[in-house]
Amino acid sequence: MCQEGIYVKIHIYFFLGYDIILMDVNIMESIYNKTFQDLEKYFEDIKEKPFKATQLFEWLYGKRIESFDEISNIKKEIIAKLKKDFAIDKLVIKKVERDKDVNKYLFELSDGNLIEAVLMMHDYGKSICISSQVGCNMGCKFCESGRLKKVRNLLASEMVLQILQVEEDIKDRISHVVVMGIGEPFDNYDNLVKFIDIINHPKGIQIGSRHITVSTCGIIPKIEEFSHLPYQVNLAISLHAATDEKRNQIMPINKVYPLGQLIASIKKYLDKTNRRVTFEYIMLKGINDSIEDANQLCNLLQGINCYINLIPYNETNNLEFKRSKKDTILKFYDIIKKRNIAVTIRKEFGSKISAACGQLRSKKEDL
Ligand code: SAH
Repeated sequence: MCQEGIYVKIHIYFFLGYDIILMDVNIMESIYNKTFQDLEKYFEDIKEKPFKATQLFEWLYGKRIESFDEISNIKKEIIAKLKKDFAIDKLVIKKVERDKDVNKYLFELSDGNLIEAVLMMHDYGKSICISSQVGCNMGCKFCESGRLKKVRNLLASEMVLQILQVEEDIKDRISHVVVMGIGEPFDNYDNLVKFIDIINHPKGIQIGSRHITVSTCGIIPKIEEFSHLPYQVNLAISLHAATDEKRNQIMPINKVYPLGQLIASIKKYLDKTNRRVTFEYIMLKGINDSIEDANQLCNLLQGINCYINLIPYNETNNLEFKRSKKDTILKFYDIIKKRNIAVTIRKEFGSKISAACGQLRSKKEDL
């Protein structure tokens, strides 16, 4: 896979008899990797009106063309240039598992790597959980995705295509996007921001920024950067434990960015953005689900403009963690509620079809 903006020329030598034939193969950048501003600049650079970016975005994201030849309002020479410079590419859908209110997609990237996306049918609309990396380096002990170390970051286009291709599959629009699939989005920050810019653009897929949520295990410098973005995107923090002692055991990132620093950075983020932060808390049996854990969690988050999302753990074949009992989760919920902190228990989607992070891919790898 080529890096964005770099045109890789592969010189392939074939020995045919005594002749050597040289072929140039251009690995082209995906057009879905370009922001609206990138395209305006592209057209300016080739001495064309930047307005062509509007036309092109409308063809790509409004009409969903599959070839530049379908464009009827841009002159032939520019179409030829676009065809030379960019690809209208696709991911390969390797597998789809469908349930009543959830679809899970396994995609193959152009270099053969596998990623996943999950579509959830809510009463308020359709929401997609997308992957941001191939594998993940964060090493959370309970998480299936971390079994495969990070292979590479996804390009913005590979994140955009997860949305486009699921919309094509269901023949419907997706209203909400959560970056909570495989990978740590703040470990792929620049591509993440580009992706948000593309899907949020009024001429693009038009996902409203308040309908986009990015989930991080807590990479503090990026939380700070994220607070300066011009979009009203939601931030979710995977907390999962309320003391350093416990968090260190299940989330190695806590040794780099411990809780005190994480909470201080969230407070700064809130001062800057005034947007409520979500804290995700997986309920792990016997590990973080006691009454004391609930009280420690409340003490940690008291007075912060947030809400807590309690997540019933999706058990996996490969790891030793178990999900908390239903009444344990309800007791935990009540304690938080009584302390006047907003809390919900996450509705479960697709535990039958392995919808938790990384599970579809790891099933495939075990085959
Ligand atoms: N790296 C980012 C986003 C990907 S993980 C992050 O840490 O937030 C998305 C969420 O799924 C995280 O809260 C993660 O802790 C949670 N998760 C991972 N494995 C899970 C499982 N088996 N069951 C339930 N939630 C899980």
